[in-house]
Amino acid sequence: MKREKILIIDFGGQYNQLVARRVRECNVYCEIYSYKTDLEKIRDMKPKGIILTGGPNSCYEEGAAACDPALFELGVPVLGLCYGAQLMMHTLGGHVGKAPVREYGKIEVTTDRSSKLFTNVSEKTVCWMSHNDYIETAAPGFQIIAHTPDCPVAAAQCEERQLYAIQFHPEVLHTQEGTKMLSNFVYEICGCAGDWKMDAFVENSIRSIRERVGKGRVLCALSGGVDSSVAAVMMAKAVGDQLTCVFVDHGLLRKNEGDEVEEVFGPNGPYKLNFIRVNVQERFYEKLKGVEEPEQKRKIIGEEFIRVFEEEAKKIGTVDFLVQGTIYPDVVESGLGGESAVIKSHHNVGGLPDYVDFKEILEPLRDLFKDEVRRAGLELGIPEKLVCRQPFPGPGLGIRIVGEVTAEKVRMVQDADAIYREEIAKAGLDKSIGQYFAALTNMRSVGVMGDERTYDYAVALRAVNTIDFMTAETAEIPFDVLVKVMNRVINEVEGVNRVFYDLTSKPPGTIEFE
Ligand code: GLN
Repeated sequence: MKREKILIIDFGGQYNQLVARRVRECNVYCEIYSYKTDLEKIRDMKPKGIILTGGPNSCYEEGAAACDPALFELGVPVLGLCYGAQLMMHTLGGHVGKAPVREYGKIEVTTDRSSKLFTNVSEKTVCWMSHNDYIETAAPGFQIIAHTPDCPVAAAQCEERQLYAIQFHPEVLHTQEGTKMLSNFVYEICGCAGDWKMDAFVENSIRSIRERVGKGRVLCALSGGVDSSVAAVMMAKAVGDQLTCVFVDHGLLRKNEGDEVEEVFGPNGPYKLNFIRVNVQERFYEKLKGVEEPEQKRKIIGEEFIRVFEEEAKKIGTVDFLVQGTIYPDVVESGLGGESAVIKSHHNVGGLPDYVDFKEILEPLRDLFKDEVRRAGLELGIPEKLVCRQPFPGPGLGIRIVGEVTAEKVRMVQDADAIYREEIAKAGLDKSIGQYFAALTNMRSVGVMGDERTYDYAVALRAVNTIDFMTAETAEIPFDVLVKVMNRVINEVEGVNRVFYDLTSKPPGTIEFE
């Protein structure tokens, strides 16, 4: 089936994945590509429309990110957002320069409601701005369709050529009617039908997996996390008992998690999967001995994972396909999708080490954002409790222990984390906080307990709110809850004598603590 598609051309802006998510919320499929992508390739994808994102450059400067001017001649509607808007104007003969007044934050914009872009949008509407440059004069043939007191061209259009430019960020939720504007672009201007629906996605995926796999044998790496669980159930529905799920207990899971995974996916669970649990805790600790650098830890854990699978695969006989729960943000963050820098390697994306002898990799969730994975999971009939689980990274506690990983430290962080989660749930906060966990810092310091000197580790508590896991803000946990957790952790977890609460947002931090 040919899916209609919007292309998002990435100029390195920080909200780019949000643009994609908003478009998909309109039931229109979209993909992110770097601005360096060849025009030929863009044309061949036959997009219904193109969105140019924001970006850090100034388009008039030497070496600034640019696009082929012929992009505007494809006959495909183009919407430029912020940098994208400036670039469109600059390329087509308008003038962009340093703004006498920079705009940052919520600004009231006056719109021309006769523009298709602003159909059903209020005349005065609050928008999110973040720019140092501005469009001084729109390109010839363009009509100004929005302004603010400091920004003469907050939006412009050339209707005949289907070109639209917006200085603000409709993708950010602070832009009150932003989703409406993006929806107007994809429906009113690009003429999309809106065929990106989760039930259809699940059904089509199951069908195409079945075709691709044929009679082949499939091995699935099950971690018990949301992504691999959804991938496993989808595969099970597609190929039944040709599928074997291998669950590696690498000793870096949350407290009791190994048993919980086995309960759900094991022989006594509802899914009747071919399920193999491999207990290789010691083997992983051995490999991680003396390793402190987080990227190296991720690599070691990832590679060891693959080796364990390989060994299991050999026991099963021929294995043709390996399933991985890669999701779209992994693809983009690994630098394969858009323009964003490689922030950290995801052991489940892209190239495998050459010693792996599986025929092919299947990544049934590669196109989905996290919230879409959850919706697919519900569509597949997986219980909500499982589907809405706290996210947990593949390398597990290996990257929630700063510095060297040891069995002893794993125990500390597991116990502290279990206490933290328990208290958060007791306080009724478990549904409202995006993600929360305990990490073990590599810091030891002096304390006193029962009149005795201690020299123990410090636990860091982390809690963030995020919709999309690309940006995050620290959650405001009531102080009494934090104090309670601190008390319990220090009393109950041997080896810990201090507890910190991490206030850092993302950016500049990451959600994990490694
Ligand atoms: N760098 C450009 C400016 O400062 C565009 C910013 C953006 O895309 N958010 O105006």
